[in-house]
Parts: sequence; structure tokens; C-alpha cells
Amino acid sequence: MLEINNLSAYYGNICALRGVSFHVDAGETVALIGNNGAGKTTTVRTISGLMKAREGEIRFMGERIDQLRPDQIVRLGISHSPEGRKVFPSMTIRENLLMGGYIVRDPKAVNRSLEYVLELFPRLKERYSQLSETLSGGEQQMLAIGRALMSEPKLLILDEPSLGLAPLIIKQIFELIRHIQQKGITILIIEQNARQALKVSHRGIVLETGQIAFEEKAADMLHNDRVRKAYLGEK
Ligand code: ATP
Repeated sequence: MLEINNLSAYYGNICALRGVSFHVDAGETVALIGNNGAGKTTTVRTISGLMKAREGEIRFMGERIDQLRPDQIVRLGISHSPEGRKVFPSMTIRENLLMGGYIVRDPKAVNRSLEYVLELFPRLKERYSQLSETLSGGEQQMLAIGRALMSEPKLLILDEPSLGLAPLIIKQIFELIRHIQQKGITILIIEQNARQALKVSHRGIVLETGQIAFEEKAADMLHNDRVRKAYLGEK
């Protein structure tokens, strides 16, 4: 579904990604893990068109997307739930969700997505007309994911969905991710919380200083000593 070939990206002269290649198959959940500064955010921002690659190519369902604008990429079926719960604080929950569905022309499809998202996140339904700034951190994260689902994506990119959240809320977020998987949506997830991310994933890919170090079945990675020491905080 998603194929990335020899991708390099820079911030000015600083090389953030160096010849990165990997793929994500339809229906898979893939966890991209790695330490701070490894290039995870840069990778997903490049896929969503928020940043331009200097070299390499990105294909989505066979079509080259690395020269497209972010809105064109959303239209093709890639939706990005950003890090840091970047919801619009002075807009209501309803308005935030409708923003996520702005590319969908058919009002019936928008209503269908809205129903799905509100069913998935009942807290958002309860607070539907409130301003997003009144939501807790966990609820804002749910809103960011809900907003990304409004465009009916084929591929959902989740950037640090558990960042800054309490353990109980993190558990809820990962349960919701399982529901989203059951809907057949392909997921690329980046997480500091590598253990949780690997538990819901089919495969894990490790990035180290802008390069792919290795990839493996997620279940095997959870038992891999090198991964356990370097990324799962074990001795
Ligand atoms: P984190 O989890 O800390 O966000 P990451 O794996 O997502 O880490 P990136 O944010 O993609 O890593 O950063 C990759 C590299 O690019 C790092 O060396 C980082 O310092 C550098 N970098 C990121 N953003 C910028 C920027 N706006 N300007 C200059 N360098 C940047």
C-alpha cells in the first residue's frame, strides 16, 4: 500500500533521513520506533507532504505522492493525527471534527464518519458543542485521532498518540487503536512508548539516526534482547 524508497530529508544542511526504505501492506499496523531525534516525525511528515524529501520516492497504492500537496495526499486516503494533540483549541469538538472531513464532498459520507467517530469516542459526543480547549489531554488526543478519521483514510498515521498521557488513558487509546484496526484501516504508528506500540502492531521498524536499523515481526521484537535493551527500557 505504502512504499518508501531511498528517502532522504534535510533541515537546511542537517540530514534528518538518509536513504530510508520500507513498506506498509494493506491491513497492517506498523510501528516505527527509535530514540529521540532518530527521524520518526520527519518520516511521517514527509509521507503526509508536510515536508519535501530531497531524494527518493514515496508511492501510495502504486501512485507517486512525494511531489503532492498535503491536501492532495489526504484526498488519496492518507490521514495524519499529529503529535502534541494539535487540535484547534478555540473551536468546538464538532467544528474540529468537521475540519477533518473538509475534503469529503458527500454530506452523507461526512455524517457516516461523524457517527463512527462519536461511537468510537463517546466522550466527544458528550462534549460535542464545547470548546476543545476545555478537554483533558487524553480527550484532546482522542479528538485528534477522531479528526484524522473523518476523511475516511485508508492509511492512518498516528504520531505519538500516548505522549504525556496517564497510564489508564494510554490503555484506552491503545484499545481504540484496536477498534480502528478492526475496521480494516492500515496504521503507521510512531511512539516513544515502543512496547505498547509493538503490542498492537504486526511489524516493527527501528530507525537510528536517520536510517533504518532493522525490521522484524512486532511479536519477535518484544522478545529481541537488543530491542528490549535499547528501546523498551529493560536491562
Ligand atoms: P522525537 O521523538 O524527539 O520527535 P524523531 O525520531 O521524531 O524524534 P525527528 O523529529 O524526525 O526525530 O528529528 C530528526 C532529526 O532532525 C533530529 O536530529 C532533529 O534534531 C532534526 N530536526 C528535527 N526538526 C528540525 C528542525 N525544525 N530544524 C532543524 N533540525 C530539525
